[in-house]
Amino acid sequence: MTDVRHERTLILIKPDGVQRALTGEILARLERVGLKVVALKMLRAERPVLERHYPASEEWVRTIGGKTREAFETYGMDVRAVMGTEDPLEIGRRVRGWLIDFMQTTPIVAAVLEGVHAVSVARKVVGATLPVFAAPGTIRGDFSIDAPTVANAARRPVRNLIHASGSVEEAAQEVPLWFAPAELHAYRRADEDVMLGDEERRGPRHAG
Ligand code: ATP
Ligand code: MG
Repeated sequence: MTDVRHERTLILIKPDGVQRALTGEILARLERVGLKVVALKMLRAERPVLERHYPASEEWVRTIGGKTREAFETYGMDVRAVMGTEDPLEIGRRVRGWLIDFMQTTPIVAAVLEGVHAVSVARKVVGATLPVFAAPGTIRGDFSIDAPTVANAARRPVRNLIHASGSVEEAAQEVPLWFAPAELHAYRRADEDVMLGDEERRGPRHAG
């Protein structure tokens, strides 16, 4: 098992994040919590990579369709009137298609972040999938207002600025999909001694 202090997670700043010039702000928020950038690049995402990144598995597609239904229900709106169906699987398949197209529209920024429980900590900083439900103080809650009620009607994915791996297993699949081993770097951040208590474990640097 990996040392949870050095857990890794994949971040993608999506086309809306790059176009809105939020790359620096997003990385700064993730860095300041204590996550260390160990890989970083701007790239044009290619369809085959996106097809693997967003799996066509029934479970995942159904979850996405479920989010549409939840949003329509919350606002008392009729999903069938907008989508022509209530089937979460059918809705999820459409959203996946829009998402894979959208991710290729402009360059994106990919990063691997490392730190204590990096996956769940990054998700906390990023916030809930749908910006209308994301808490203030999170990246999605502070910088986006989008909802499936609007996005699905316009046949596009929800603009939520960023992707962050959803679980440790997802991260383990996603990191090698976007980065070669040589693109991952090991180094010490200056604040690690204080943040992780390494200074105390080693004893004081200067006696007396
Ligand atoms: P991500 O994987 O991008 O970090 P997430 O894990 O919070 O987001 P997923 O369920 O994996 O959410 O959805 C992947 C992406 O698909 C979302 O980030 C969003 O851009 C888009 N999306 C999800 N559900 C919907 C929906 N109901 N309508 C439109 N777009 C959606
Ligand atoms: Mg996800």
